[in-house]
Amino acid sequence: MKTPQKLGFVGLGKMGYPMARRLAGAGFALTVFDINRGVQERFVAENRAQSAENLSEVARNSDLIITMLPDSKAVRSAVLGADQEDGIAASMAPGSILVDMSSSAPLVTRELGARLTAKGIVMVDAPVSGGVPKAINGTLSIIVGGNEDTLECCRPIFQVMGDRIFFSGPLGSGHAVKALNNMLSATGLIAATEMLLVGRRFGVDPKVMNEILNASTGRNNSTENKIERYILSRSFSSGFSLDLMVKDLNTAMELARELEVPTIFSNCCRELCAAARLSLGKGMDHTDVVRWFEQLAQIRLGE
Ligand code: NAD
Repeated sequence: MKTPQKLGFVGLGKMGYPMARRLAGAGFALTVFDINRGVQERFVAENRAQSAENLSEVARNSDLIITMLPDSKAVRSAVLGADQEDGIAASMAPGSILVDMSSSAPLVTRELGARLTAKGIVMVDAPVSGGVPKAINGTLSIIVGGNEDTLECCRPIFQVMGDRIFFSGPLGSGHAVKALNNMLSATGLIAATEMLLVGRRFGVDPKVMNEILNASTGRNNSTENKIERYILSRSFSSGFSLDLMVKDLNTAMELARELEVPTIFSNCCRELCAAARLSLGKGMDHTDVVRWFEQLAQIRLGE
């Protein structure tokens, strides 16, 4: 199978925009679409890409379509459309490929894959890890589920966006691993926050304590990459929203429930993050969750 050169990209948000920008820069013939017309117009003004009027136009112009949307609900609606006629699937040619790079729900992905197979369309899931800075410089980790031949055919496309590409197994497994990773990542952030708050009340400077954690066995991705940069600085600007984080935690816990694996500790973390989101409101950065813990403890970690 040859690597498709005519690509469609649906979802030009915080992650999708820089990912699509890299593909346009690498010389692929790109057609883009976002329900936010303003962001789509900005993209075609700033990059070599064609603007699509609707999803059918993306599908007609492309041999491979990437979706980078908030969740499975949005992916399902983009792929199948409201009445089965106006989604991507209705206009994709048999033999073309759909790559869902969103952090979607694995069981929905499997179901979508089966519907696409019936139309002769191949689906792979390829969620990413790394966040906005890595999307900008093309160093994302990409976790691919599906079949290995399709991964090999897509590899030159993935290599434009990421520098670590993993094959995780059958369709949906990429989305499963991604949700489980984000659950683990959230537990690391919450655990670090609680310990820093205790240290602070005892009188230890959080910056000093975080440096010690990073040289000790308690370190994790949050202590290394988030606490000082986004929390002690009070910028709360990681680019990954609390809304999307809670969606990922729900996905992970739904999967655990479906598979009947006890996840008592992780569920507690999900409950805390969901409560924080309710209390803080929509549109927050995921690092804002620390402010909610600060309110509970009546202590601030940074000035
Ligand atoms: P975002 O909300 O910034 O972007 C989503 C984009 O999709 C928006 O531009 C929105 O207008 C568009 N959209 C929504 N529904 C649509 C539809 N039906 N048709 C066309 N366009 C539609 O989200 P993001 O932060 O870019 O995240 C995208 C995905 O990547 C999510 O699944 C998220 O969980 C995952 N992710 C995000 C990060 C991060 O750091 N932000 C990191 C890894 C993975």
